[in-house]
Amino acid sequence: MALLQIAEPGQATAPHQHRLAAGIDLGTTNSLVATVRSGKAETLPDAQGRHILPSVVRYTPEGVVVGEEAQAAAAKDPLNTIVSVKRLIGRGIDDIRSLGSRLPYEFTRQDTAVPRIRTVAGDVSPVEVSAEILKVLARRAEESLGGELSGVVITVPAYFDDAQRQATKDAAQLAGLNVFRLLNEPTAAAVAYGLDHEADGVHAIYDLGGGTFDISILRLNKGVFEVMATGGDSALGGDDFDRALAEWIMRQAGIADDADHHLLRRLMRDARAAKERLSETGQAELDIELGDGNRWQGSIDRETFHGLVDPLIRKTISACRRAVRDAGIDRDEIRDLVMVGGSTRMPRVRELVGEFFAAEPRVDIDPDRVVAIGAALQADVLAGNKPDDEMLLLDVTPLSLGIETMGGLVEKIIPRNTTLPVARAQEFTTFKDGQTAMAVHVVQGEREMVSDNRSLARFELRGIPPMVAGAARIRVTFSVDADGLLSVEAEELSQGVKARVEVKPSYGLTDDEVANMLRASIDHAEDDMATRKLAEERVEAQRVVEALGAALAADGDQLLQPEERQRIDAALGDLQQAAAGDDADAIRKAIEDLEKTCEFYVERRMNNSVRKAMAGHKVDEFE
Ligand code: AMP
Repeated sequence: MALLQIAEPGQATAPHQHRLAAGIDLGTTNSLVATVRSGKAETLPDAQGRHILPSVVRYTPEGVVVGEEAQAAAAKDPLNTIVSVKRLIGRGIDDIRSLGSRLPYEFTRQDTAVPRIRTVAGDVSPVEVSAEILKVLARRAEESLGGELSGVVITVPAYFDDAQRQATKDAAQLAGLNVFRLLNEPTAAAVAYGLDHEADGVHAIYDLGGGTFDISILRLNKGVFEVMATGGDSALGGDDFDRALAEWIMRQAGIADDADHHLLRRLMRDARAAKERLSETGQAELDIELGDGNRWQGSIDRETFHGLVDPLIRKTISACRRAVRDAGIDRDEIRDLVMVGGSTRMPRVRELVGEFFAAEPRVDIDPDRVVAIGAALQADVLAGNKPDDEMLLLDVTPLSLGIETMGGLVEKIIPRNTTLPVARAQEFTTFKDGQTAMAVHVVQGEREMVSDNRSLARFELRGIPPMVAGAARIRVTFSVDADGLLSVEAEELSQGVKARVEVKPSYGLTDDEVANMLRASIDHAEDDMATRKLAEERVEAQRVVEALGAALAADGDQLLQPEERQRIDAALGDLQQAAAGDDADAIRKAIEDLEKTCEFYVERRMNNSVRKAMAGHKVDEFE
């Protein structure tokens, strides 16, 4: 979803009423919490001075353990220690199976859509596991700030779909937190560098962590932060660099592939340490304990190391190239390159990626903390701790939302790119005399015909008092909250009967699908206009035919001579024939002809009803 900057008036409070707020980076491997103090955003440490909280939750019969202690137990108690829960959140069991990753946990209740993991402390859902991580971070913030948090901003990947976003919000609610807003991770990084206060332009956010790689192309345009494209590889990161180096050591030291797993573990740990040293120095010494008192000693220089990792870095660059292409821009349009994630500390990564984008990478803020810092800055604004004119980042609707009207047409109620939150209402009426129910079909997309858009929900409004066609007034209200969740309400205004439905508008739509839907609406704009015109004329024809039919049944015999009736029937027949064809202009002409033919009849009916209304009254009563 794209993001927009607007001022939210009336949000600011006086400085002495400073409300406590925090930004939370809820990561796959690690999480952090940050806050703004004395105008400066900083991440908060635990009592031991550790800023990073491993996103690991262990369930024991005595209770729940989160972070470093849980991580230390992962190897000996894998079934009860949940790692990388972010890969599971908001996904159905089928989705998770298709992830293909070999997860060590046992899933229960395979029959239900939402997976639950069996632990010694009972079955837990990914939302509950995430809530445990959030609780620890929130407690840390409250202890450190000395008060209760008024709200938090939690970051999510730009590609998270609606279900994943909703599940993240659910986790926060379960942790007792008020979520001001979910914020896309790359946007948070851009905010941390203050890019939202700079001139319009396109930015690349390159995020290479331990196990995942994400590239996002954002455009700031007239205050709108729009996600133009995302890409990456959910199984590529610093761990792969460690593995490449460990394999090199094995070749040098003559260690067999089937060495015992303690040795392999040690090797991975030593390789990681050597990799990190190589970010500082040109050469790293290696001293590997092989077991049985044997050691292997050697060293590796940067050039050799680059030979090992360059193919992996180039893989990330291929993904960057694809993202730039998907964004439909030239590479040299990228103004800023923001580096996120521990692996962007590697000088070689900065060098090759900087070369590709022809931009100086932004590395001043700790790449592990930059997302949390951006979230904290945003939380501070949303808590109302900034002056009135301070800008806010808000989401916009990625696609138009509307309802189906007669003839399979779409009536757009909220156009795409509308700033969220938003509520818009439109009035509709009944099509038939005595209609007591109305079907509301909610659709999303840019095309004119319902069949070319995405159907989101259907519901019925019942209990409309019977009235003549066109007399009932039904107000349909669309509201989309700040996180993009839509609810639709239909209300009949005379009696106040209501029906409502909650829908998830972007559920399951990837950015590519959104882009395709937009492209299709542009490609088909002309066709669509013609189709719309035809459908509208057909609806109008049907309305005229029904209204005339009702009138003829009521008083046709009484008011019309047989010859007059024949003329009207002939014109009616012509219209019905035209409406069965595909020529919108012919339908329009037949409607006009029929209306002309019926003019005298309409006049007679009006006179007749006036006469009836006046029967028994004196003329001056009406003056
Ligand atoms: P993250 O998932 O963002 O916390 O990143 C963790 C990854 O960053 C791990 O693979 C670390 O080995 C890697 N990393 C952290 N510091 C450095 C460094 N100085 N040089 C190279 N890699 C690093």
